[in-house]
Amino acid sequence: MHSIKLFLPVIFSIGIIVASCTSKDPGKRILRAAVDADELPSLKDKKVLMVYGGWPGHKPKEFTEKISELLKKEGAIVTVSDSVDVYADKSIMSSVDLIIQSITMDKINKEQIEGLVKAVKGGVGFAGTHGGFCDAFRENTTYQYMTGGQFVAHPGGQIKYTVNILDKNDLITRGFDDFDTKTEQYYMHVDPNVKVLATTTFDGKHDDWIEGAIMPVIWKKYFAKGRIFYLALGHNPEEFDQPEVQKLLMNGLKWASGSKYLPKEDWLNPVYQD
Ligand SMILES: [Zn+2]
Repeated sequence: MHSIKLFLPVIFSIGIIVASCTSKDPGKRILRAAVDADELPSLKDKKVLMVYGGWPGHKPKEFTEKISELLKKEGAIVTVSDSVDVYADKSIMSSVDLIIQSITMDKINKEQIEGLVKAVKGGVGFAGTHGGFCDAFRENTTYQYMTGGQFVAHPGGQIKYTVNILDKNDLITRGFDDFDTKTEQYYMHVDPNVKVLATTTFDGKHDDWIEGAIMPVIWKKYFAKGRIFYLALGHNPEEFDQPEVQKLLMNGLKWASGSKYLPKEDWLNPVYQD
């Protein structure tokens, strides 16, 4: 991994709105305004709620303990809950800066999802990895509207594959090179308006009709004021011992922790154009 320091030709200060522009590159991406500080927000003194549960195969408790230690090293104040009941607790939800969830294939009731949605819309960041974030509540489309994607398959199970860094300018992925890792290669249904930062390409070895299919691995988005960050890696918590994977996760968590304190980045990143 290269140093994450990189010269930026122009550094925009917070709050300055850059004039709209439409790029004519092959990806036809619109970047209406890439306005942000020049460094990721700090986790120091940020209040982080970690919520875990659901299918035990993803070792959600171990994941939570591992990431909690990393957060504490950054100075975050971490609270842990093993129940989505916490989402209905108004006093806790109004006090936190960031929620990190690791719950696979579980249920969420009306009161719980409404509490979570209200908090995120109001500026609480919401982040997670793998199935603990994007295969959490299959029956709840409001939840999927918020996260921006839903797991549907992992052809071949745990395999070695390459993560390609797509966005070299975003603060989360700036300075990273492509890297190999071994985990489930998630095939997902993804909101085409999220900002994709990294991808992977399927080789067709396990499902030949998807050879060459390109799939997001990392994205960011907003849900009203709340910053959403997702990393599809992480079937095993040990994967976060790989330096690139750990650093990318921590960068994403830092970014997501800033919703309450930083101006909303004014971009939408649609795949499809008029
Ligand atoms: Zn998995």
